[in-house]
Amino acid sequence: MTNTPSPYTGNTIVFATMHGKENLAAPAFAEQLGAIVIAPDHLDTDQFGTFAGDIPRTLSPLAAATEKARLGMQLTGLPRGLASEGSFRSSLIGVGTTEILLFVDTERGIELLERASGSSPLPAAGRVKTLNEALTAADALGFPEQGLLLHAVRGTTIDIHKTISTRTELAELVTRCLDNETALTILPDHRAHRSPSRANRIQFLCVRMALRLATPCPTCATPGYGLIDVETGLPCVACGTLTRGIAADIHGCGACTQKQLHPRRETHADPATCDHCNP
Ligand SMILES: [Zn+2]
Ligand SMILES: [Zn+2]
Repeated sequence: MTNTPSPYTGNTIVFATMHGKENLAAPAFAEQLGAIVIAPDHLDTDQFGTFAGDIPRTLSPLAAATEKARLGMQLTGLPRGLASEGSFRSSLIGVGTTEILLFVDTERGIELLERASGSSPLPAAGRVKTLNEALTAADALGFPEQGLLLHAVRGTTIDIHKTISTRTELAELVTRCLDNETALTILPDHRAHRSPSRANRIQFLCVRMALRLATPCPTCATPGYGLIDVETGLPCVACGTLTRGIAADIHGCGACTQKQLHPRRETHADPATCDHCNP
């Protein structure tokens, strides 16, 4: 608990999750704000799309997070909600991921976003043709601590197995599928309760959000003053051309127009990132 009472002391905030994300937010929200984080009892977030691909994701990550937060608040009747949304992209250099965390306070009329992008430590999906390949792929993922999904395609039938929890279970299922001439792909389960690396990223964003909510706007005192954008245009050290490098962070308020520019420590960009020196 902080010494000065925060505007959220004693408040209950609903995290719209069915995968235990409330436990990732609760410690930081208790420590920084004296607030309680809960999850709704009957919430189906799969309706907004799944990582497994059995329900397609049609909304943008921000729109999906907004819908989830609103649904959580509606189910509990609470005026404040949290929702997170992860996205993953595979490329030749690995798997990139972006996680966003949205906080909505309908009483104060604020919506705040924290975002983190980086590379995922998990390998991309891979086709497996033997039991050995399947077990090797599972080991590479860190199974069983990190969960996996097994996509099984036979003719026009696609089965997605999401509940495999042991090596023995995996071996039995893979053997049965291979005997059936089923094409198998193993991919990471990105759901927060089955992915320690994703849970860590969400927890990191929860800490940042709690710290941000403990920061009042210098003009209107609304909680949640913090990073809202960045300014690019870091000049190239060799020729002075403005690059896409980040020159400053922009801190702002969710309620009023107060903004402050915080220049970054780097004052010049590497010519390798300059369109003029390295087109
Ligand atoms: Zn240059
Ligand atoms: Zn303000």
